[in-house]
Amino acid sequence: MNAFPGERVVELNRAPLQPEADFVLYWMIAFRRARWNFSLQRAVDWACELSKPLMVLEALSCDYPWASDRLDTFVLEGMKDNRADFESTPVCYFPYVESAKGRGRGLVRELAARSCVVVTDDFPCLFLPRMIRSVGQDLPVRMEAIDSNGLLPIAMAESVFKTARSFRRYLQLRLPDCFDRFPKENPLSGVSLPGLPEIPEKITRKWPTADGLLDASSGVSARLPVDGRVERVGTAGGCRAARNKLAEFLSSRLDRYSLERNEPDRDATSNLSAFLHFGHISVHEIFSGLAGLEGWSPENLRAAASGKSAGWWGMSAGAEDFLDQLLTWRELGFNMCSKRVDYDRFDSLPDWAIRTLSAHENDPRQYVYSLEKFEGAKTHDPLWNAAQGQLLREGRIHNYLRMLWGKKILEWSPSAREALSTMIELNNKYALDGRDPNSYTGIFWVLGRYDRPFGPRRPILGTVRYMSSQCAMRKLKLAGYIRRFAPGGSG
Ligand SMILES: Cc1cc2nc3c(=O)[nH]c(=O)nc-3n(C[C@H](O)[C@H](O)[C@H](O)COP(=O)(O)OP(=O)(O)OC[C@H]3O[C@@H](n4cnc5c(N)ncnc54)[C@H](O)[C@@H]3O)c2cc1C
Repeated sequence: MNAFPGERVVELNRAPLQPEADFVLYWMIAFRRARWNFSLQRAVDWACELSKPLMVLEALSCDYPWASDRLDTFVLEGMKDNRADFESTPVCYFPYVESAKGRGRGLVRELAARSCVVVTDDFPCLFLPRMIRSVGQDLPVRMEAIDSNGLLPIAMAESVFKTARSFRRYLQLRLPDCFDRFPKENPLSGVSLPGLPEIPEKITRKWPTADGLLDASSGVSARLPVDGRVERVGTAGGCRAARNKLAEFLSSRLDRYSLERNEPDRDATSNLSAFLHFGHISVHEIFSGLAGLEGWSPENLRAAASGKSAGWWGMSAGAEDFLDQLLTWRELGFNMCSKRVDYDRFDSLPDWAIRTLSAHENDPRQYVYSLEKFEGAKTHDPLWNAAQGQLLREGRIHNYLRMLWGKKILEWSPSAREALSTMIELNNKYALDGRDPNSYTGIFWVLGRYDRPFGPRRPILGTVRYMSSQCAMRKLKLAGYIRRFAPGGSG
């Protein structure tokens, strides 16, 4: 156990190990994958040390916030891949999907009562931190949460970073210590563990495995009490789809990334955000693939830590720009969510943004829309409606238009606080990559987080950065996009 990076382990209680119990339990709730996963690696280490079988419980409750056919389908597709990945290993994989509210209650406690130690995922967002802490406090057995979120362990940084530049500089100082501390690609390779013949029947009688659901081809909403109006989309979830997306991006889009990533019609970005959100792919795997392609090793690092976004890595321009999104911008949100419980509240904005938005609170608005009008893509602006149309239909919006989408919600809402709640509701309900630290980075950026004041002072926004649809239309070729995603368009 000595080689495991201690800064990634959070002890959730002071209960002892139970070395005589039946198995080691890994309760997989965020890093839903069998590879490049520190939590799985930790659980395997425990199982080896104690010479015990390993059970992996991948669970999905039915009443988490914004649960829908769209999100559950994506998770279930991931479960199918995980079932296949664990099939040829000694791991006893237990996929569990709650079929009615409250049905899953007690399952983890029941399994923990037979466990030597419980390992789970440390994801710093939504209800998960509260849930695992509450379970940990009650258990009579040792429980640990493991951080497999990013290249930088979230415990390493002690403060909350207020700008991307200051965080980037910090990463440039600290990441060199992390390059030789990656999770194992396959933590089960070469490992010999006693097998667990099957899940105890007393458990499966009350909490049946989700195998039937995984084998069914029909939509989940007919079988689960979730919002069927948010329909499944064409993007399939799971580790295999994620790996294919990564391979496709590296081979055919990375070299265009710098020049074309802001062009919605060019499809030059990785489209990995939903897979990252559900843990179907790890940032370590992405980084390793990219570094391999670039022939990169830490000796290639070129410059001192300055916080500048280009030139530090010694990679191609596309790779450096991509890493800036994947590492600086993505992990900035993990830093915020793990350190401030109010990361999703208006009052967590910088003082200057609160002051300027409050000073303009009562400014007259030319357009004011309700949540329902926004949701139905029924504004006066065809470009905004198309962006919302893409969100409704595909569960995503291109990053450039997502910024514009948010800025217009701010401008056309009765107040900045109402704009915040509209953005959170629509983003988290419809986006496959929603409910993530990145969601709050993006949404709060619209309101001034990580940004600075911009002149001239404008109505409603004050000195918060302004964006306009006219400017986007002038800069980008968007006619095809609008036709495609306009309400009733060709999709
Ligand atoms: C209002 C608003 C809401 C947003 N909501 C979300 C959300 O719910 N979930 C989400 O993952 N991203 C969100 N973003 C950030 C960004 O739009 C997406 O991460 C990006 O469009 C995903 O596409 P991609 O995977 O092709 O990105 P790529 O350009 O290929 O980038 C690679 C990865 O870097 C990360 N990344 C890229 N851009 C950003 C960014 N601006 N901030 C933080 N991380 C970034 C993502 O994990 C992404 O998958 C939001 C942005 C805005 C302005």
